[in-house]
Amino acid sequence: MKNIFYALIMCSLFLGCDSLEKKSNEVNLYSQRHYAVDELQYKNFTKLTGIKVNVVKANADELIERLKNEGENSPADLFITVDAGKLQKAAEFELLQKVNNKIINNNVSNDLKDKNSFWVPITYRARIVVYSNDRVQKSELSTYEDLAKPEWNGRVVIRKSSNMYNQSLVASLVANHGVEATEAWANGLVSNMARKPEGNDRAQIMAVANGEADIAVANSYYIALMLSGKKGAEQQAAANKVVPFFPGQGGRGTHINVSGIGMLKLGPNRENALKLIEFLLSETAQNHIVNNSFEYPLLEGVNPHPLIAQFGTDFKQDQTPVSSYGEFNPDAVKLMERAGW
Ligand code: FE
Repeated sequence: MKNIFYALIMCSLFLGCDSLEKKSNEVNLYSQRHYAVDELQYKNFTKLTGIKVNVVKANADELIERLKNEGENSPADLFITVDAGKLQKAAEFELLQKVNNKIINNNVSNDLKDKNSFWVPITYRARIVVYSNDRVQKSELSTYEDLAKPEWNGRVVIRKSSNMYNQSLVASLVANHGVEATEAWANGLVSNMARKPEGNDRAQIMAVANGEADIAVANSYYIALMLSGKKGAEQQAAANKVVPFFPGQGGRGTHINVSGIGMLKLGPNRENALKLIEFLLSETAQNHIVNNSFEYPLLEGVNPHPLIAQFGTDFKQDQTPVSSYGEFNPDAVKLMERAGW
């Protein structure tokens, strides 16, 4: 009788473990990241841990809506974005739980961290100016604010206002100058545009190389990606006709944003989710990112790829808190719309 009792306990324990085991072989990501390097990264993680990574890709607002609608039934463990503002938004909707993990905390530099620990940066990037090496002198460039000046009339290209990178740049200007002054700036910038905004960041760099415009705004890693030849010979040749410039070096510094990750409050695979965050901040994974997407690494001791490091790594970074990008996003979106961006 005693033996049967023990057998039943063992059995239920075992079944319990078994069903947990099934669950614990996966981790589910909702990701806004759009880089080829990520798939390889997740494959490496699976090889290392045996944990399968399922990815749903969409833009951040769509993913946030989906998470809200799914509620308790959501399978998502992690939310990955290319923008601190959207992580902040997810935290404000109470979708995220705090991540307080020693390995993670020790590996992330303080200035790019969420002060409330609701999300963790994985990489960072600068939003820079790229200029024509035969029609523009470096000395003509200075700040983002200056891009609205009349001397740039008909010479600037930048992507649409619906783009997150632009929204966070403008939100950072709102944080520093207020809505009214930033709107006046946006009006000036729109009147300086060489064409109606279209295409991605690389398309803006191409436009400068093709002579359609003289300066473009784009994220730092795109120039290196194009120089690498990974996007083909035409883009590589175009990247060689332009030069990156880090705005604001005499003042506030260059606008920085992070690609980061938040753990969902209701995610079913918490342990696996933590393992994946730890992995993404490991030396192996950080080197993998640096060498494939050319973003700046978060982990100390890992260096940016030479194709981006050649333009300088010790540039002054704008210290405007990345969490303010979420706070001022609605103001930024509205003023850009009013400016016809
Ligand atoms: Fe990007």
